Amino acid sequence: MDKELLAMLVCPLCNGKLKYDREAQELICLYDGLAYPIQEGIPVMLPEEARVMDADEKLPTSPGRTGDL
Ligand SMILES: [Zn+2]
Repeated sequence: MDKELLAMLVCPLCNGKLKYDREAQELICLYDGLAYPIQEGIPVMLPEEARVMDADEKLPTSPGRTGDL
C-alpha cells in the first residue's frame, strides 16, 4: 500500500492515526479497537465495515512488547 496514502488516512471516528497491518491487510485504530479492511488495495474507511478487535488485540501492552516496566 502507498505510504503517502497511508499517512493521509485517519480514523473516521476519532481522527486518530491508523496502524497498517500488512499481513492482515487492515488499518487499525487502537483507540476505537476497530480494524478497517483493505480491499484490493483500497482502504474501506467505514465504521460499519470495520472489524471489532478482540480486547487482547487492542491492549497497548500485549505479550512480547517491550513496555515501560
Ligand atoms: Zn478511531
